[in-house]
Amino acid sequence: MAPIPGSGLAKGLAVTLRTMTRKSVTAQYPDTQPELPPRSRGVIGLFEENCTVCMLCARECPDWCIYIDSHKETVPPAAPGGRERSRNVLDRFAIDFSLCMYCGICIEVCPFDALFWSPEFEYAETDIRDLTHERDKLREWMWTVPAPPALDPGAEEPKEVAAARKTAEKLAAAQADEPGQEGRA
Ligand code: SF4
Ligand code: SF4
Repeated sequence: MAPIPGSGLAKGLAVTLRTMTRKSVTAQYPDTQPELPPRSRGVIGLFEENCTVCMLCARECPDWCIYIDSHKETVPPAAPGGRERSRNVLDRFAIDFSLCMYCGICIEVCPFDALFWSPEFEYAETDIRDLTHERDKLREWMWTVPAPPALDPGAEEPKEVAAARKTAEKLAAAQADEPGQEGRA
């Protein structure tokens, strides 16, 4: 059946009218900041204190954009007569965000919880070389990482928290037993 003359124009005008009267969804960034979910993949933060330089993240990164340098150090034995131990010391940890594809594999595979997503995304640069964030900058991003979600009610206390609490209690008890501490509270 042949279309009624002018029906295409009427349809087009109807779409125009509908769209004109609808509320605009375009946000005027950067005047209007987007409301992102707290776990958005913006940038990666490094919690350096947890990193054991196991290299797993660098090996698994599909883009090869994690650069790690380290050296070995010998540490004295834990007990007298024991064997000396060696440990890795981090010299360089950098992520090239001009290559990163935000897959999150490095964060997933890190066995020591040293890498975290931060929702911060405003780090565009005019020089591509500045998109390689070195360890200090990656450490700084940790301040923008949201706190972990609360545990389920009745969940077991994480072993790290239990160990830290026990150590704090022991220290407090030792301080209280020290001579000269009585009556200071
Ligand atoms: S998010 Fe993916 S691409 Fe980016 S550094 Fe991690 S593993 Fe590599
Ligand atoms: S996987 Fe984790 S602990 Fe291992 S080198 Fe990477 S950040 Fe450090």
